[in-house]
Amino acid sequence: MKDILSMPVVVELIRTVTNMYAHGWDERNGGNVSVMLDEGTLGEFLDLNRVLRRIPTGFEAPELEGKYFLVTGTGKYFKNVQYEPEQNLGIVRLRDGGRNAELLWGFTDGGKFTSEFPAHMMSHAARLQIDPENRVVMHCHPNNLIAMTFVHSLDEREFTRTLWQMETECIVVFPEGVNVLPWMLCGTNEIGEATAEKMRTARLVVWSQHGIYGAGKDLDETFGLIETAEKAAEIYMKIAHLPRINTITDQQMHQLEQRFGIKAREGYLD
Ligand SMILES: [Zn+2]
Repeated sequence: MKDILSMPVVVELIRTVTNMYAHGWDERNGGNVSVMLDEGTLGEFLDLNRVLRRIPTGFEAPELEGKYFLVTGTGKYFKNVQYEPEQNLGIVRLRDGGRNAELLWGFTDGGKFTSEFPAHMMSHAARLQIDPENRVVMHCHPNNLIAMTFVHSLDEREFTRTLWQMETECIVVFPEGVNVLPWMLCGTNEIGEATAEKMRTARLVVWSQHGIYGAGKDLDETFGLIETAEKAAEIYMKIAHLPRINTITDQQMHQLEQRFGIKAREGYLD
C-alpha cells in the first residue's frame, strides 16, 4: 500500500483548504469540501475492505451508493488541516442507499464529516446528472459575496448580470450564471435539497447572508469559480455606492461569447 498522504488528491485538498483559509473565506470552522474518489486509484492507498466505523448520514442518496468521498470534518478548522490531516479529513464510502457512511480513513479523534454533508452529497448527485465528470463540491464564506446579499437584489438574473458586469472574464468563467438561495437554516436536509435543485442549472449557488457553494471537475476549477465570483463581488462592493458612468454592455458580452465560444444563460443578456 502507498501512503495515503501522498495520494495526489489528498495533497491537493490540503493545499486547497489551506489556501481557502488564507483567503479569509473560512473563519474558525467555516467551510467544507468533498471530493468524489476513483475506487481503483483509492485501492492503491487503502484496504477498501477495512471499515473503521459506520456513521449514519440522516438522508438518502441512492445514486451515490458505493461511491467514495474525501471530505472535511465537522467542527474542524481549515487552518489546522495541513498539520493534522488524518484528524481533520476522512474518506468514506456510502452504503444502504446513502443512509450510512463507512469510514475507511481519517477522523482519528472520533469525529465525523461536515454537518453540511447532506448539501454536499445531494449536490454531487445533482451535478453528476448534468456533468458525469463532476468530482468536487466546495462551500465557504467569502466576505464580499456575503456582503452583496445584504445590499443587492437576490433575483438570480440581476445578481448574475451584476457579477458579469464587474469583470470581463466573469461571463467566460461562469456563463451559466450564479443561482441564489434566500436565507435558510444550514445543516439541514431542506437546504441540501434546495442547493441540489439550484445545482441543476449552475455550478455556483449563493447562500444569502451565509456564503457560497461551488461544484466542478476538480479542486482548481471549483476554487477558481468561487475566486472569480468573489472578486467580482468585491469590485461591486467598492463601487456600489458610487455613480456608475461606465459598464460592460450586453453588446460587449455577446462579443465575449463569440470570442471564447461560450453561451450565456438563456434570457440573461438582452
Ligand atoms: Zn457555512
